[in-house]
Amino acid sequence: MRVLIVEDEPNLGNQLRNTLEGAGYAVDLARDGEEGHFLGSTETYDAIILDLGLPEVDGLTVLDRWRKEGKATPVLVLTARDSWSDKVAGLDAGADDYVAKPFQTEELIARLRALIRRASGNASAELTAGDIRLDTRSGKVTRAGEPIKLTAQEYKLLSYLLHHKGKVVSRTELIEHIYDQDFDRDSNTIEVFVTRIRKKLGQDVITTIRGLGYSLDEPAETAS
Ligand code: CA
Repeated sequence: MRVLIVEDEPNLGNQLRNTLEGAGYAVDLARDGEEGHFLGSTETYDAIILDLGLPEVDGLTVLDRWRKEGKATPVLVLTARDSWSDKVAGLDAGADDYVAKPFQTEELIARLRALIRRASGNASAELTAGDIRLDTRSGKVTRAGEPIKLTAQEYKLLSYLLHHKGKVVSRTELIEHIYDQDFDRDSNTIEVFVTRIRKKLGQDVITTIRGLGYSLDEPAETAS
């Protein structure tokens, strides 16, 4: 899952980026409203964290522009403390949720997870396919109850496929959702990650749809 943070306070922006990367997200960080608007319009994100008080273009204007452009990406706005008018204005402009500053990072991440889940039609924090489980809160993956260790990129890829279970996902789509902007994107690495995930979780986990991409369905229960 890939997230854009638009935040002009350097410390807060860096801290959020580090925390989210540690939680298994690909993250881009924009430092002002203009750059934020540009990235949100031209790149593909699963969710956006948008500060309202921003240099160049303010957050509400940025959000309003995205919505007028037809961008439906879930947006969580960061509002000034106790500013109910900020919250109302944010929601009216098309925000999906808000967190007031100062906030607990855990709360922000929990709300972000929920936004991403809802956008992909998943009600539970635990994503499953057959006996495969991925807990989006802890980042733990198991198959038939056995813990499976995945690298950060393998986790991102599996998480994206589980969020879109049963759908055919192209390589391009995977690349857009598991790498940040600065990453040297090479579509061949996707095949490498898929091969590694199959080695760790089982050959039946991800189906290659020739010429189209990959699909993760309900694999059969493993015999125990
Ligand atoms: Ca600010």
